[in-house]
Amino acid sequence: MDTVKEKELEFTGDMMERDDIMDNAVYQMCLAFLGIESDDTEDKFPWDISILNEIREFTVHLLREQGYQVCDPYIERDDIDHYCSPHVCGFKKCELHP
Ligand SMILES: [Zn+2]
Repeated sequence: MDTVKEKELEFTGDMMERDDIMDNAVYQMCLAFLGIESDDTEDKFPWDISILNEIREFTVHLLREQGYQVCDPYIERDDIDHYCSPHVCGFKKCELHP
């Protein structure tokens, strides 16, 4: 018999907002690299989260490797869900962690 998780954690409003900011920043960077002007961007460079995620993960990884603090919120899906903690992003106190 399958056991259903009692409670699945969800992104908080702050985490979702942060997520959007980062995805949009990567998207804008791609537009700049591709030389696409502001109109009909969706035709020339459709929003593809798999491309955006890969660039985003690389960027976060590289910046952290260089010693910069980057908050990139996530939820660890384990036996019990839990939120990332401030020690991951490196800030002593991070408003984005519940
Ligand atoms: Zn954080």
